[in-house]
Amino acid sequence: MDFRATTEQASIRDAVRALCARFPDAYWRDLDGRSAYPEAFVAALTAAGWLACLIPAEYGGAGLGIAEASAVLEEINASGGNAAAAHAQMYTMGTLLRHGSEEQKRTYLPRIATGELRLQAFGITEPEAGSETTRIRTTATKRGDGYVVSGKKIFISRALQSDLLLLLARTTPYDELADKTRGLSVFLVDLRAAVAGGRITIRPIDTMINHHTTELFIDGLELPASALVGQAGMGFRHIIDSWNAERILLASESLGDGRWFVDRATRYASERVVFGRPIGANQGVQFPIAQSHAQLGAARLVRDKAAWLFDHAEPCGAEANMAKLLASQAAWAAANATMDAYGGYAFAKEFDVERKFRETRLYMTAPVSNNLVLAYIAEHVLGLPRSY
Ligand SMILES: Cc1cc2nc3c(=O)[nH]c(=O)nc-3n(C[C@H](O)[C@H](O)[C@H](O)COP(=O)(O)OP(=O)(O)OC[C@H]3O[C@@H](n4cnc5c(N)ncnc54)[C@H](O)[C@@H]3O)c2cc1C
Repeated sequence: MDFRATTEQASIRDAVRALCARFPDAYWRDLDGRSAYPEAFVAALTAAGWLACLIPAEYGGAGLGIAEASAVLEEINASGGNAAAAHAQMYTMGTLLRHGSEEQKRTYLPRIATGELRLQAFGITEPEAGSETTRIRTTATKRGDGYVVSGKKIFISRALQSDLLLLLARTTPYDELADKTRGLSVFLVDLRAAVAGGRITIRPIDTMINHHTTELFIDGLELPASALVGQAGMGFRHIIDSWNAERILLASESLGDGRWFVDRATRYASERVVFGRPIGANQGVQFPIAQSHAQLGAARLVRDKAAWLFDHAEPCGAEANMAKLLASQAAWAAANATMDAYGGYAFAKEFDVERKFRETRLYMTAPVSNNLVLAYIAEHVLGLPRSY
C-alpha cells in the first residue's frame, strides 16, 4: 500500500492553493453577506482548467481522475472558500460523458471545458417526491420526434448561473411500471432559451447559506429528440451512475472544510489566553479538536480508497457512500469543536467560523441526506431488509 500523493496530485494541490489565495476570507464573507455568486472565482477556476479536469482530453478537458478532482475541491474548501458554488459541473458532466451520444459530447463538452457554456444545474428534486426520486411527476410527453415537458422542481442550484440544465423527467406514468426505477429519462436543456421563451420560470429560494438554489416551474417546454441523453426510460440508472463520483467529490469538500476548522481552531486555541494560559491547554478545548482531526484522517483514507477504486473502474458504491458519510460527520464535528474553541467570537462574522459552520452543515443533507446513505449501506451493502 502506498499512501503517498503522486507528484501530479501534489502539484495540483499547490496550484489550486495558489489560485485560492487570490480569493481570501473577505471575498467569501462579502459574497455571503450579499448572497452573491462567486463569479470571479468560478471564472478563475474555469480559466485554469480545474472545472474541466474530469473531461477527457479528446473533448478539451484535462482527462484527470476522480482522485485529482477530489484534490481540487478539497483544497478550495480548505482555503476557506466554497467549492459547492461550482462542483456540480464536475459530476453532472459525468452523465453526459457516460450516456450521451458522440454528437452530444462533441457539441457540448469542449464548450463546457473552455467555460463558454456552464452545465451547473441538475434538475432532479421535486416537492412531492423528496428523496424518493422514482416518484417525480415532471413529465416529458412524446410529441412528434421530440418531447413537451411540464412540471415543477425544487432546490435546483445555480439555475440562474447555468447555460444548460440536466433534467430528469417522467416518460412513462408511474402506475404503468412494473420496475419503478424505469420510466424516467434525462434531457439536456438549453436553460437560457427555455427561460427567454417563458417555458421555464426560475424562482430563487432564500437559504441559510449562499447557495443560489431555486424552484423551477416548467410549462410546455418543447425539446427536440436530440435533447434526450442516453436511453429513454433509463434516466434514473443514468443518474445513479454519476452518484459515486458525486459522493467522493462531496466527501472531499467536507474534508477540506474539516481541515480549515482544525487549522483555525488550533491556531486560535493556541493564541487566546484566558485564566492565564492559552485556552488550548485545557483538555476540554483540545480534545474535541484532536478528536475531529482523527475522524478526518479516517474519513480521508476511505475517500482515498473510494477514489482509487473509481479510477481503476472497480465497484466503489460502498466506499463512496461511506466516505461521504464519514467526511461530512467529521467536518461537522470539527465545525462544532471550532465553534466551542472560539467562544463568543465564533458568532462574529469577521472570523468566518459561523459562515463555514453553516456551509459544512449542508453536506449532511444534500445532495443526499446521510440517512439515505446509511440506508444504502444497510440495505445494499449489508443486505438488510429494504425500508424503501
Ligand atoms: C441547498 C440545497 C441545494 C440543493 N441542490 C439541489 C440540486 O441542485 N438539484 C437537485 O435535484 N436537488 C438539490 N437539492 C435537494 C436535495 O437533494 C434534497 O433536499 C435531498 O435529497 C432531500 O430531499 P427532501 O429535502 O425533500 O427531504 P425528504 O425526502 O422530505 O426527507 C426529509 C428527511 O427524512 C429522511 N428520510 C426520508 N425517507 C427516509 C427513509 N426511507 N429512511 C430514513 N430517512 C428518511 C431524510 O433523510 C431527511 O432527513 C438541494 C438541497 C439543498 C438544501
